[in-house]
Amino acid sequence: MVIAIDGPAGAGKSTVARALAERLGFTYLDSGAMYRCVALAALERGADTSDAEAMGRLAASLAIGFDGERVELDGRDVSAAIREPRVTEASSLVSVHPAVREAMVASQRQLIVAGRYVAEGRDIGTVVSPDAPLKVFLTASAEERARRRAEQTGEDLTAVLAAQRERDARDEGREHSALRAAEDAVELDTTGLALDEVVDRIESLARERGLV
Ligand code: C5P
Repeated sequence: MVIAIDGPAGAGKSTVARALAERLGFTYLDSGAMYRCVALAALERGADTSDAEAMGRLAASLAIGFDGERVELDGRDVSAAIREPRVTEASSLVSVHPAVREAMVASQRQLIVAGRYVAEGRDIGTVVSPDAPLKVFLTASAEERARRRAEQTGEDLTAVLAAQRERDARDEGREHSALRAAEDAVELDTTGLALDEVVDRIESLARERGLV
């Protein structure tokens, strides 16, 4: 069973999903980390991220796993490496390819079938788990999202805002699994809200729906 948390970069998905999972005793699934693994593997191999076929083959060949907070790629701890800005950029390039998405969605479904998950991403409520009993679409103003990311990574705010705009456009405009809220998702604007307020709200929804 899955609680789906989708939304654009910087809306607070990771922090919220992680805190919610801990509170409810569910397992946290970071689907973005999986696309980041594909991107890292492509960069390390010097492969062309615009080559749909090559990226699809690469995605299908990788063993991506989670061990608590740790992200493993072919048995190696890549938790830090996948957060580098060049990987962030490349992850939004590799994720446009349908074959890459197919491979990631299949792995995500395999993981969540056994257990209770809070899964975060862009397409959890629309594609990975359309029958999720609770779907939340988190948003926040572009400025707030960029500010949060700049604080997290120490990058320059203007640069983050520009890169974010490009990534948003790619995520929203891509042909396959474009970023959008599922029709039955609860939309939550986190601008100006504290983490606890957001988590409280989602926890109440989960309780109202009898999920905990
Ligand atoms: O969430 P995060 O920023 O780590 O995701 C990295 C990239 O992976 C996003 O910019 C997006 O292009 C892609 N992604 C996706 N579908 C998901 C999760 C992430 O396309 N479910």
